[in-house]
Amino acid sequence: MQQRTTTDRKQEASPAPSTGRPVRQLAPFTAALSGSDGLGLQLHSFCETLYPIQRSLTGPGVDATLTHLATRIPLKRMSIASGTPVFDWTVPDVWQCDEAFIENERGERIVDASRHGLHLVGYSRPVDRWMPRDDLLRHVHTLPDQPGLIPYRTTYYADSWGFCMTNETAAALPEGRYRAVVRSRLEPGELVWGEYVHEGTTDHEVLLTTHICHPWLANDNCSGLAVLTTLAALLRGRKTRLTYRFLFAPGTIGALCWLSRNEHRLDRIVAGLSLSCLGDAGGPTYKRSRRGNTTVDRAAVLALSENFPEATIEDFSPYGYDERQYCSPGFDLPFGSLQRSRWGKFPEYHTSADDLDFIKPAELERSLRLLASTLDIIDGDWTPISLCQKGEPQLGRRGLYAATGGDPSAAERNMAMLWVLNLADGRHSLVAMAERSRLPFQRLAEAADLLSNADLLTPRPD
Ligand code: ZN
Repeated sequence: MQQRTTTDRKQEASPAPSTGRPVRQLAPFTAALSGSDGLGLQLHSFCETLYPIQRSLTGPGVDATLTHLATRIPLKRMSIASGTPVFDWTVPDVWQCDEAFIENERGERIVDASRHGLHLVGYSRPVDRWMPRDDLLRHVHTLPDQPGLIPYRTTYYADSWGFCMTNETAAALPEGRYRAVVRSRLEPGELVWGEYVHEGTTDHEVLLTTHICHPWLANDNCSGLAVLTTLAALLRGRKTRLTYRFLFAPGTIGALCWLSRNEHRLDRIVAGLSLSCLGDAGGPTYKRSRRGNTTVDRAAVLALSENFPEATIEDFSPYGYDERQYCSPGFDLPFGSLQRSRWGKFPEYHTSADDLDFIKPAELERSLRLLASTLDIIDGDWTPISLCQKGEPQLGRRGLYAATGGDPSAAERNMAMLWVLNLADGRHSLVAMAERSRLPFQRLAEAADLLSNADLLTPRPD
């Protein structure tokens, strides 16, 4: 409650104090979520809308998905033409598939992509051919260890076609002839992505990105799309210190396209996060940036230690999601990755079991709140210098010591003030103070705000 009181006072305070002291909005992300009831159900229902769209790197599924996101935030569509070289890659042609199925000699459809989007291997080239069962099976992917599940497969950069089905279906196929039909087209067009920018009081930027290329998988990654879009929508109208860029792009090639277009302005990026798999009950998992100890790494670890002591913190490795591109040596951006269960570590990963039952409203909401806490730390970090370096300032005289009787948080608030004053030597940011004191970041931010208003602190010049 203390935090909200402070925030409300700040919002009402207008104009800014005549001292020129910066007006700080404490925890704008968490504040943006307060007052929204049923967030988890809203997030899950958004995932239900996005789930059955036949997404891929390019094509109508990406367009349809961006159209849904654009009903909630003013999304800007960006694009690069097929065939354009992007670093060591080339933007692929646009893939579109109208129909795909396998039928037997009696005309019965064994699998049909309209019944489940994972049945068709993404980017399959066109085919319409009868063939014996064993020839067909060379184009069929199954999961022998999970015989009731359909796997997710793609063939983006190889000229082939294929189907995915449960191992139970494949094993039960009698000998005979089968017709495989893929009515797809691969034509020059544009690779498209969506961006939304929330302007802060500085143009130092935080890049938040999630992939938009997976079909019919709920955790990976309708959850990321829903959480990020919802956060962006709720943040509208809120004042933040930093600028936030929300990026919805196909995996790998989308990140490379964005980097190639923005190479001249990457020095603005002070933090980045790739987000995915945010709807299951596992984890959370935070993967550090390549540099390992940047502000986003430290903020994520603090937010996790306050909310999820069971979280896993992983060091950087060159595999995973788009943090790989942002952390490649020529960019080496401060970019981490946040998930609940780590990709590849949960049995539902890249299978038909990653469905709408696998993700839970309460977990989607917890992930959204965790992301908000992490961003509040990044946004609220600053480095104060105490104007009273010799001895402690006399807090009681200024009415700053909280009375401890009957208020269990008063002692912690007092300790937070003492920590901030002691570490306000210009070499400790609030993040560093939280690490050292083990007090919640927002408690220190509130203390720093109070001390600043009492003219006991000044910000270290950048
Ligand atoms: Zn995936």
